[in-house]
Amino acid sequence: MSYVDPYSSDPDQVCPYNRSHIVSSKRFAAHIVKCAKVYSNSNLIICPFNAKHRIEPHLMHSHINYCPQMIPGILDDVQMKRYKEWANQGPTNQENSGV
Ligand SMILES: [Zn+2]
Ligand SMILES: [Zn+2]
Repeated sequence: MSYVDPYSSDPDQVCPYNRSHIVSSKRFAAHIVKCAKVYSNSNLIICPFNAKHRIEPHLMHSHINYCPQMIPGILDDVQMKRYKEWANQGPTNQENSGV
């Protein structure tokens, strides 16, 4: 059984592209960039507020509400702009690969 040390400043993270990839926080950003290329057919969406968040399309709306990178209800200009860009794009402009 794994135990996450709450005092560790560098807890391991699970790669959103492959749950068997356990990566240290320090390497996580580089890792998901690499995995994004490897799994380029993945339909995970990059969070408009934090590039380290990769979210499944159907979870995106709820993620927008609880994403720790934004203060709920107090979107600043940058956040609002990103959110609008994301909302305009929508998750549905992606090719539906018939799952
Ligand atoms: Zn990975
Ligand atoms: Zn996020």
